[in-house]
Amino acid sequence: MNTPATLTLALSKGRIFDETLPLLRAAGIEVLEDPETSRKLILATSQPGVRVVLVRATDVPTYVQYGGADLGVTGLDTLIEHGSQGLYQPLDLNIARCRVSVAVRADFDYASAVRQGSRLRVATKYVAIAREFFAAKGVHVDLIKLYGSMELAPLTGLADAIVDLVSTGNTLRANDLVEVERIMDISSRLVVNQASFKLKQAPIRRLIEAFAQAAGAPQGESAAS
Ligand code: AMP
Repeated sequence: MNTPATLTLALSKGRIFDETLPLLRAAGIEVLEDPETSRKLILATSQPGVRVVLVRATDVPTYVQYGGADLGVTGLDTLIEHGSQGLYQPLDLNIARCRVSVAVRADFDYASAVRQGSRLRVATKYVAIAREFFAAKGVHVDLIKLYGSMELAPLTGLADAIVDLVSTGNTLRANDLVEVERIMDISSRLVVNQASFKLKQAPIRRLIEAFAQAAGAPQGESAAS
């Protein structure tokens, strides 16, 4: 019997899920349940051979790397922090765009602290990105790993600066913080399990092509490192 290959796509709820839906639609795939109202973690789609699993954003690369999902959509920030071992990265989907920036309290003179070679305390969820950025600048930093509400760190004296995602800048402004350095632009990437890519080549290639067209993105051959 010729059963269609089952493809499992890992997505995180929120912006990535919402912005991936039009790409799936362009590939002829409708997700049949709304994660905001359903408690299900495995969502069926209009194509019997395709399902969506909902995982935490930071777990998407792990699911794909170890084959819990064949494909996933993950931010470049998450991908850099996780490392891209075992992941094929064929496509920049150009969704969930934002940037990783350094921000400080409005009354903190970041430029002179850097000029004077002061040691900075930096709170962030993005330890790998921050470490590499400050090392390249020759700035000595003590990195403090946080899992959320980074904006609070400079306000409470926990840190001099934060490294965080910025989109409109509203969250920084609301907390009297200013963006002082833009480290990198971020968008979400399609990642594919390398074994799945070989074993389920036809359906995965079809999906990549439909996503690439809908995202207006050139297909790269960015292999896993
Ligand atoms: P904003 O106020 O628009 O600058 O958004 C900043 C807040 O939203 C921060 O708490 C970020 O962590 C979060 N954020 C912004 N863009 C993204 C994104 N693409 N993915 C996940 N979180 C984001």
